[in-house]
Amino acid sequence: MTPSTVAQLVEASAEHIAADAAWLASDAHLALLESYVTARVAVAAVTWGLASYWDRTSNVIVLEKPDGSTPATEAARALALNAFHESLHARYSTDPAATAFFAKLALLKQLGNPGGDFLEVVFNRLEDERIMRRELEVSEQDADEIQWFREAVVEQRENEYALRHGAGPWTDEPVSRGDQFMVALTEAIHLPDRRSHTHVYVAALLASCEDAVTEAVTGTMADAIGAAHEILRLYKDNLENLVDD
Ligand SMILES: [Zn+2]
Repeated sequence: MTPSTVAQLVEASAEHIAADAAWLASDAHLALLESYVTARVAVAAVTWGLASYWDRTSNVIVLEKPDGSTPATEAARALALNAFHESLHARYSTDPAATAFFAKLALLKQLGNPGGDFLEVVFNRLEDERIMRRELEVSEQDADEIQWFREAVVEQRENEYALRHGAGPWTDEPVSRGDQFMVALTEAIHLPDRRSHTHVYVAALLASCEDAVTEAVTGTMADAIGAAHEILRLYKDNLENLVDD
């Protein structure tokens, strides 16, 4: 039987692995993931790859093939969550008007314009939250996994900050205000009920971004694109306040 919830997909995967350790990353594993995805959304194919993403042009979901560096059941769980996440993109990130935005992003990045990376990162986080909310409007069945995903994303950014700067982000005298802003923005997007301690200027900039964040996560894909541009504008206007002492 095809699993219809992430929890069922995780459980089915764990049973297969318990019966046969070689099942992980096998054709049969991919077939299970594909049956789960295609029961949720019409995609052209689900394939193994080097990273997990939904390719909008080909409507193919690519899933990162486990390389054995993580325990099998953990790797299978991550894959189940990724299959779920990318199926949300295939379902909700389909506005054809966004093609112009992605072309612009590619051009900015090609030109080495730092605004391109900023826009891409901010848009991706807004869009990830937007599609999870859209899904929750339709069904609460995967609500626990969605909350887990949100917390995991914020934790990942906190860890990246700590690795880069040798100290955690949540202090009023951060090593980097600019990087602290990016972690704080991620927290505001995914965990709006949580607000960690930041530099006073970072908190002020974040407060000025709040309306844009709300519009993005409760609106359309075009709203998320507009909000990413607005947040870039606010960030640029505040650059002098983000210079570290
Ligand atoms: Zn995503």
